[in-house]
Amino acid sequence: MQNKSLRRRDGTGVDGQLIEKFKEGFAGSVIQPGHAAYEKARRVWNASIDRYPGLIAQCTGVADVVHAVRFARLNDLLVAVRGGGHNVGGRATCDDGMVIDLSAMTGVFVDPGRQTVRVRAGTTLGAMDRETHLHGLAVPTGVVSRTGIAGLALGGGVGWLVRKHGLTCDNLLSCEVVTASGDIVTASAESHPDLFWGLRGGGGNFGIVCSFLFQAHPVKTVLGGLIVYPRDQAGAVLRHYRDFMASAPDELTAYAGLVSAPNGEPITAVLACYCGNLTEGERILRPLRSFGTPLQDLIQEMPFPVMQQLADASFPDGTHNYWKSLFLSDLSDDAIDLIVEHGNRAQSPLSATLLEFYGGAAGRVGPDATAFAQRQSQFNLGITAQWIAGDDGDRHMRWARETWNALHHYSGGGYLLNFLGEEAPVAIKAAFGVNHARLVAVKTKYDPTNFFSLNQNVVPEY
Ligand code: FAD
Repeated sequence: MQNKSLRRRDGTGVDGQLIEKFKEGFAGSVIQPGHAAYEKARRVWNASIDRYPGLIAQCTGVADVVHAVRFARLNDLLVAVRGGGHNVGGRATCDDGMVIDLSAMTGVFVDPGRQTVRVRAGTTLGAMDRETHLHGLAVPTGVVSRTGIAGLALGGGVGWLVRKHGLTCDNLLSCEVVTASGDIVTASAESHPDLFWGLRGGGGNFGIVCSFLFQAHPVKTVLGGLIVYPRDQAGAVLRHYRDFMASAPDELTAYAGLVSAPNGEPITAVLACYCGNLTEGERILRPLRSFGTPLQDLIQEMPFPVMQQLADASFPDGTHNYWKSLFLSDLSDDAIDLIVEHGNRAQSPLSATLLEFYGGAAGRVGPDATAFAQRQSQFNLGITAQWIAGDDGDRHMRWARETWNALHHYSGGGYLLNFLGEEAPVAIKAAFGVNHARLVAVKTKYDPTNFFSLNQNVVPEY
């Protein structure tokens, strides 16, 4: 039986009068159990996450964030911070504590002259793309347009422009941050540079980012889309993809893997985005498109925001999800055979096994230049188990774990922070890699009591 009331970390309840007082100084919505909006507000993107916060503070601006942080500190509350609510491990919510929900804090402000864009913390990738596209610009982000920019940028951010323009966090110029003590600071190369370093890949450990200033790039029309092969060609297609990407130019980012067609038919797919000169792109993509006997070649010129939405339908809202991933330091033929063998055992047409290759501009940044350490040019394998309500989740999770276990032998031990589900602290530490000790120092300086603990947590030195 869920308790469904606001409780302190020691388990004692918070007096209703205190909550009323909190509401007086808060401009946004305060949603508690019993409120008509509670059921919707407590849910995050992954339907497997079923938590009951004691209070959801839907902020309208920085003043609300400061007010919520101070109230939570004073009352020793467990705090979850919510951007887009897409973290598969459910780190944007909690039981009994307070959710500081930024999803209503949307807004995108493009400066075409400087080619920069400021976004508020509740903005989705699609909302930002829409505005930047008006000016022929784009910021490198992820590949599903409904994802929140906040969590994605703080964890690194890989997507269709990663090889040409780097990670999302590589394009961060400054952040407006509310710290664990409720102070407002600007983090940039000049102001609180240690905090700025930590925010670029260190996740939600150091404070609440209320807005981000990004560098944008001239990207308007790209050559991209899907090449579809029968599933029984998966081994050959993945081998060709591996060999092709070894010498691909930075303008090309491509993923390949075992997925299903909209009608549920198992297929092999290569998904590519070329963001340079389009005539040159036709030439570059020719060997990829002429390989084997595709069922369909859907590569075509398209506005960049359309490219950004191509994968949306593969991740519908309301599904249950369990994700695992790992970098493969050795993508040998044996490893590919294992990927195919296990990918063919997926328990749902919504589940996928996808290889992604980054490198390029992201790989030329030093592993300790930002908190994002995983700069090596290796293939990342995403194993996404996805199923609908009522299905037996255990068999889907078992498939993801077995696939991950089978491939682990080929991994260099690194993980992509943004794709971590409910992994153990040891996996989080491995994702931070060479930067972990420095992250502990930044955490100890800015959040010595681990006020922000519901994230891929860096534990401060007490
Ligand atoms: P939330 O779930 O809201 O939060 C995640 C974490 O960030 C929490 O710890 C939270 O406390 C913290 N946080 C959120 N907002 C703030 C803030 N403003 N200040 C401080 N801390 C904050 N990642 C990629 O890199 N590339 C992809 O292509 C990609 N595709 C994805 C597709 C789907 C369908 C999904 C579900 C995820 C995808 N991801 C991808 C992973 C994604 O980057 C992470 O799930 C990320 O956490 C999403 O951001 P969010 O704001 O929605 O996170």
